[in-house]
Amino acid sequence: MSPESSIPRGRLAPSPTGALHLGNARSFLIAWLSIRSRGGTVVMRMEDLDHPKVKPGTAEQALDDLRWLGLDWDEGPDCEGPHEPYVQSQRIDSYRDALCRLADARMVYPCTCSRSDVESAQSAPHLGEDGLRYPGLCRDRYSSFAEANAALPEDRIPAWRYRVADEHVRFVDGFCGPQDQHVHGAIGDFVIARHEDGAGYMLAVVVDDAAMGISEVLRGDDLLSTTHRQILLYRALELEAPRFVHVPLVVSPDGRRLAKRHGDTRIAALREHGISAGKIVGLLAHWCGWAEWGESLTPSELLVRFDMTKLPPTPAILTDRVKAYLQIRD
Ligand code: GLU
Ligand code: ZN
Repeated sequence: MSPESSIPRGRLAPSPTGALHLGNARSFLIAWLSIRSRGGTVVMRMEDLDHPKVKPGTAEQALDDLRWLGLDWDEGPDCEGPHEPYVQSQRIDSYRDALCRLADARMVYPCTCSRSDVESAQSAPHLGEDGLRYPGLCRDRYSSFAEANAALPEDRIPAWRYRVADEHVRFVDGFCGPQDQHVHGAIGDFVIARHEDGAGYMLAVVVDDAAMGISEVLRGDDLLSTTHRQILLYRALELEAPRFVHVPLVVSPDGRRLAKRHGDTRIAALREHGISAGKIVGLLAHWCGWAEWGESLTPSELLVRFDMTKLPPTPAILTDRVKAYLQIRD
């Protein structure tokens, strides 16, 4: 059954490494509307693998904030579902299985390089999209993870890298259109996990979206350039890739990612200051071209207005007018 022929399934996949703010709330609202407007199923998945950065209570807060805004989901950590558990830290076995398959096929290898190893290996540092291109130093260096691990001091652990072929990876994004990346030249062999068991964002997101039958991945366009790598993993694991849709983020007037210095845009903070959910959802919808300035709306009321063709291709901007409207102080 191809994803198109069945009921659409989308997911909201927050990482409890930081609070839900206007930017990710907007992406989640669009993802929710895209699925709900077609009568599809929404899955909530908590992406809590980034251990040192996961803050206690943030996951619960994110779910609470999203519910408060008026979003809901059919499957998730707080409700039952056929693909439990919906928390990545409880799904390590499935990442380990996928990793074993890739390792057995020698599609991945352990890498002991530090950033300075990678830097000094290139005469002119090649700045790929995501920093330094990895030149394949460990491609044929170790025969096992244990051997690689033994080559490192106690406090370091090898990463797993995917062996990238010299080819272009292409897909058509549901919002950004045709995409083409020569992963080999731009990024090189990439890290799929920094743990022996394969628990890391790049592998986990692919394994989970496939296992949970996700047919549409709609998320912020900061992840657009990771998609080609994820598609390589879908192929390597012989899984069907979902449809990808990447939407612009909310940025500060100087075009940068939202940060603390731009004021407190956390949903929880706005809520605490007495700003209503309707006002926030109305603003998010206004940014998408679905509402007038000043409208107060629920996500459900937006179902009939959902229209991706109205979504501006440029980022939404946290202007002074917006900040005054939501009483956001610097
Ligand atoms: N959990 C990721 C994040 O919050 C999103 C992953 C994804 O949508 O693929 O950045
Ligand atoms: Zn290496």
